[in-house]
Amino acid sequence: MKKLYAVLGDPIGHSMSPVMLNDLFSFYQIDAHYLPFQVKAEDLGSAVKGLKAIGAGGFNVTIPHKSNIIPFLDGVDELAASIGAVNTVVNEDGSLIGYNTDGPGFLKGINTIVPRVSEQRILLIGAGGAARAIYFTMAKEKPIVLDIANRTLETAAKLIEDCPYDSLSRALSLNEASENIGEYDLIIQTTMIGMSPKMAEQPINLGNLRKQSIVCDIIYNPLETQFLHAAALDGARIQNGVDMFVYQGALAFEKWTGIFPDVQRMRNNVLVQLGGNPC
Ligand code: NAP
Repeated sequence: MKKLYAVLGDPIGHSMSPVMLNDLFSFYQIDAHYLPFQVKAEDLGSAVKGLKAIGAGGFNVTIPHKSNIIPFLDGVDELAASIGAVNTVVNEDGSLIGYNTDGPGFLKGINTIVPRVSEQRILLIGAGGAARAIYFTMAKEKPIVLDIANRTLETAAKLIEDCPYDSLSRALSLNEASENIGEYDLIIQTTMIGMSPKMAEQPINLGNLRKQSIVCDIIYNPLETQFLHAAALDGARIQNGVDMFVYQGALAFEKWTGIFPDVQRMRNNVLVQLGGNPC
């Protein structure tokens, strides 16, 4: 019998996950289908109950439900519990267990160009939900330095305080980060500055950037934000948010099926959906 997989969010119309994951189910000849469901916050509990009752194999959870979903699940793994957000749920013999593949997805993507995060001085820009998943996952890897710069300094300080994994971290203002940018090997931009309607803006100035630095932006639409454009002009190696998106999906697919999928195939699928060129 065909298994149901889903993504719950609000809004959900622009999600690229259904096309990306249905392509994988058909490529690996798995009798399953992945559907998007727009679910309001007040209906989240009943939606989860319904998916459990009909024996769905699992589902993704996206904005705005990543934290609110937790009380409706039967269990949550250690990393997702510490982050306080779930983006992937697996039906394990009738129990719905929550995981977070956003942080590990980012790590797998960055590992393609930085194999050992433990040898890096890292600056994370932003302290929202995505930054939290990335910070906790990176902290586990024990980098030399893992600083956070954010518009609201207290949010960055709170994120560092909440993290159960020790790391050498400072909370910085965006101006301080700009001044100190030359200290870092890896810079990760996680705010929404660079997306519409702030496409012409960047969160910090890269004037003092070192040419050998690696600069990531987790935004994937546009494929090259103003921030990445400026970093590339300064000679830095850049990575956009497609890698994080693809790897978080690959890790979810692996949890559901036991197969780690063809990531290049997924990347091409996403690039076509974004109107870019497959490579
Ligand atoms: P969020 O929880 O709302 O966090 C937003 C962050 O942006 C906060 O640090 C906030 O700072 C900062 N910010 C917002 N407006 C700002 C401004 N005008 N000036 C300076 N800082 C500003 O959002 P999120 O869920 O973490 O998502 C952030 C971005 O990541 C989005 O663009 C999203 O599309 C992207 N994302 C990508 C992936 C992927 O797979 N590639 C996955 C998840 C998210 P304050 O604390 O001061 O408000």
